[in-house]
Amino acid sequence: MQAEIICVGTELLLGDIVNTNAQYISKELAALGIAVYQETVVGDNPARLTRVVNDARERSDLLIFTGGLGPTDDDLTKETVAKAFHETLVEDAEELSRLEAYFAPRGGMPANNRKQALVPSRGSKLPNSCGTAPGIIMEDEGKTAILLPGPPWEMRAMFEQSVRPYLVRAHGGCIVSTMLHEYGMGESSLELQVKDLLAGANPTAALYAKDNEVAVRVTAFGPTTEQASRLRDGLVEQFRQRLGELLYSEEEEGSLEKTVVELLTQKHQRVAAAESCTGGLLCQRITSVPGASQVFDYGAVTYAASAKRRMLGVKPAALKKYTAVSSTVAAQMAFGVRRAGKANWGIGITGYAGPTADEAAGKPAGTVYVALAAEKQVWVRRLQVLRPDRQRVRRQATQLALDLLRRQLLGLSMPECRLFGRHEIEEF
Ligand code: ATP
Ligand code: MG
Repeated sequence: MQAEIICVGTELLLGDIVNTNAQYISKELAALGIAVYQETVVGDNPARLTRVVNDARERSDLLIFTGGLGPTDDDLTKETVAKAFHETLVEDAEELSRLEAYFAPRGGMPANNRKQALVPSRGSKLPNSCGTAPGIIMEDEGKTAILLPGPPWEMRAMFEQSVRPYLVRAHGGCIVSTMLHEYGMGESSLELQVKDLLAGANPTAALYAKDNEVAVRVTAFGPTTEQASRLRDGLVEQFRQRLGELLYSEEEEGSLEKTVVELLTQKHQRVAAAESCTGGLLCQRITSVPGASQVFDYGAVTYAASAKRRMLGVKPAALKKYTAVSSTVAAQMAFGVRRAGKANWGIGITGYAGPTADEAAGKPAGTVYVALAAEKQVWVRRLQVLRPDRQRVRRQATQLALDLLRRQLLGLSMPECRLFGRHEIEEF
């Protein structure tokens, strides 16, 4: 099935509002495995809208419209598309009484609103749970038009309640999907690695770049759930092989902190964390997972050098020789907090969130050292955050810390890490 999205509204052309409806619908259609061929924005002008509809009908099977279903004179989408789809509009008694009931406590229905009760004689209407204009579906010569209201909250509610189920039924079967979460490779490198896997029509795969990680949604449809699942599982397996150690979750709402808390719980182990530039974000992420109390009982924000000495036993000589932003100090923080928290694992994070940094020592803003300590050894990785702002640095440092722990818990490799023995770090 090939689809197009047509957003109607002069205010979109004037740049007064951002076309978030198109973005939402594109994503939803991609997730359903429906290819979107074109998106068009057109003003509230029946002649131009007619041309757009006729052109789109030539190319695509499914046309999804938003905007222009309201009561005012410039709301012309329904009338215009109905003509192009050889439909007549008739007043729907049920819609009319719904509108009258809606407006009764508001001093009666304005005359304008009556046209919102018009529905196509052959088509169908979609209930609007958040507003007054019903959505519309029309079918003509194998082409389908779906008309949705402009206000985003109305449009989304209608999409979820009526359009998605309609599209699944129209596919004549079932749709299943799985979300894969990966950490460690950026969107463009990942795209190159899996380009061939993104090309299929059924099953489909789409990348979603998020904050410093990428998710892949794999969707398949088939006549039965079993057949759809079999298709999906085949492609999921190919992604598993390509992503290897980078794949950390296959849960819809997966996150690194969730994976780490689950792994620690399974192993009956605990982690403690000492944070400097991340200001408690790591502890916040861990404790946001239900059940974190089984695996976490101690974290410290040691921002000042004196706090690192006092709370964690970081050695003054190490601070003097290497400065607070160094692999040695990160490692001492990790050992110190592991001891203080009586935990199996200790994490230490220290870095320059910016704008201050130590350029002379080759440590610009965005330089962070993340250390993970076990009983006798510690892994330290230096992170250089590009285009650093404080939030990005904080987020990326905690992502790396969680991933290092995940890797140890699963016995995976520790890329780009330096490994130190405990004595090397503590003898000062
Ligand atoms: P109404 O009954 O409110 O008139 P409508 O279906 O006629 O709804 P429009 O008049 O086109 O829709 O748009 C109403 C409002 O919805 C706009 O002022 C705008 O805030 C929002 N809107 C419309 N189209 C979009 C879009 N493509 N993306 C985001 N917001 C939109
Ligand atoms: Mg309107």
